[in-house]
Amino acid sequence: MDYKKIISKYNLDRTRLIELLKDIQAAEGYISEKAVAEVAKAFRISIAEVEGLISFYHFLSARPLGKYVVYLNNSITSEMAGRQEVALAFEEEAGCPFGKTSSDGLITLMETSCIGMNDQEPAALINEVIFTRLNKEKVKKLASWMKQGKPVQEMVEEFGDGANSHELVKAMVKNNIRKSGPVIFDDYLAGTAIHKTLETSPEAVIDEIKKANLLGRGGAGFPTGLKWELCRKEKGPEHYVICNADEGEPGTFKDRVILTERPEMVFEGMVISGYAVGARQGILYLRHEYSYLKKYLENILKKMREQGLLGKNIAGRGFDFEVEIKMGAGAYICGEESALIESAEGKRGEPRDRPPFPVQKGYLNMPSTVNNVETLATATRIMANGSNWFRAMGTSVSAGTKVLSVSGDCDRPGIYEVEFGLTIDELLKMAGARETFAIQVGGPSGQCIGEPGFSRKICFSDLATGGSVIIFNSSRDLFSVVANFLDFFIEESCGWCLPCRAGNVLLKKKFEKIIKGTGTRQDLKEIEAWGKIIKTTSRCGLGQTSANPVLTTLTNFRKLYESKIVKEAEFISEFDLITAVAEACILTGRNFQEENEHV
Ligand code: SF4
Repeated sequence: MDYKKIISKYNLDRTRLIELLKDIQAAEGYISEKAVAEVAKAFRISIAEVEGLISFYHFLSARPLGKYVVYLNNSITSEMAGRQEVALAFEEEAGCPFGKTSSDGLITLMETSCIGMNDQEPAALINEVIFTRLNKEKVKKLASWMKQGKPVQEMVEEFGDGANSHELVKAMVKNNIRKSGPVIFDDYLAGTAIHKTLETSPEAVIDEIKKANLLGRGGAGFPTGLKWELCRKEKGPEHYVICNADEGEPGTFKDRVILTERPEMVFEGMVISGYAVGARQGILYLRHEYSYLKKYLENILKKMREQGLLGKNIAGRGFDFEVEIKMGAGAYICGEESALIESAEGKRGEPRDRPPFPVQKGYLNMPSTVNNVETLATATRIMANGSNWFRAMGTSVSAGTKVLSVSGDCDRPGIYEVEFGLTIDELLKMAGARETFAIQVGGPSGQCIGEPGFSRKICFSDLATGGSVIIFNSSRDLFSVVANFLDFFIEESCGWCLPCRAGNVLLKKKFEKIIKGTGTRQDLKEIEAWGKIIKTTSRCGLGQTSANPVLTTLTNFRKLYESKIVKEAEFISEFDLITAVAEACILTGRNFQEENEHV
């Protein structure tokens, strides 16, 4: 393998190191020790630094992988849609368990977190191609094609709706837009907002966004106008605009659909933001799982340049602004803005200490704004239609609309653009949900609510969400849902700080003790106390919200937990005698049944 040739393509640009490693992996099937040494030498960094990068990202591998790498999503909606049967079928066909490669080196089976297809599960990535609504028969067919050596893209037999069937996309993914709203999914004439923006001053643009009361759509709800103003005020030779297209929260897939159907609005939002904060360069950080959209998005950028809406002298107004697409490599934590910036710089996506905030020292230590896909598309509509038009929708605190990704137990999973203030009951009716027992709002890091909470409103002052709404009916086991979410956070913790790295593991063990029926009231108290410690002492948003699955279900479904408690026990029961005897029997080769009679 001629590593030098690949390395030379990147001009020793450190910020493109992840891309370079992906290239090596694409050519060689993995990143060998020799490749690591060559890269480290060329960039004058340590071998440990390159290895650290590879081990950080799910989609980079230091061990040889098969010609076909199946990444099967293990999110809760995938489980609900029959993931287990699909996983078994893959194992049967490949002749190896997940985490391994078939003996002929053809197929590697891997698990991965949510790939943004919750409305069409079970879904998997094979190499970089998406396969949705999998079942046993489809797996058999895919495996037989793999054995024949068929190119993965040719295994896609039917394309999805809208731009999913564009010649540069050709994906079987479906948009499933169930309700279009006036802000994001209404028709839009490309360039309208850019022309209006460049007729006014950057300060006036910030003012308009502030008047619109646009709050960040990624979940945190930080005022966008204020963020832009703070960034503009910071001094620096360069300012940067970053679009966070790394939606990794399980249950969220709305940015995928916005990027597919309204990419111009997102890129225009970046130009508007660039003009407002004084930036000349924008970065769209796209999650690896959405690699299938990259060429299509690059083509949109090309068209915008041709139309004078991007590049030099935009709209003839003397403003220069470019957008580059940078790919993630699989890490939920990169949805956190400072971790995203680290990753965009070609490093491990570990969150930074704050302050300084990204608006002060962000990408390459320059003042930077990081905004969500939906936020930027919304800013475009605000500049086109005006802040008064926008504020007339939604509630007094939460203006405008919100795009929701609805999945789980309902007849119509998919995308809903609704005005803020919609109640959960109204949403359930729209989605065709019946016998609903619980709703997870805002993904695992959000909250799980039951029936008494269905009259609550989706808005920043009540139920805030970055977009994810997962519905569970009365046939579902809520404890399995919580366990899945806790496993997700354990897997995705970057490991930097102890409360998150170890606390979540301990919390999960305590939770398991309860659901096994060996827990006491003292254990419930400890779950609450430990959850609070993890929340308050973790360094970033992941740790600060990772205990939510257990804490919010404990609050809203207390009776379920109470039913598992050892009734008479007010003692601390750390020791599970039956499990201990079973383990001892395995070690000593004794008969568990016989021993169990004496317990
Ligand atoms: Fe990493 Fe978790 Fe600490 Fe965040 S809270 S920095 S994800 S270990």
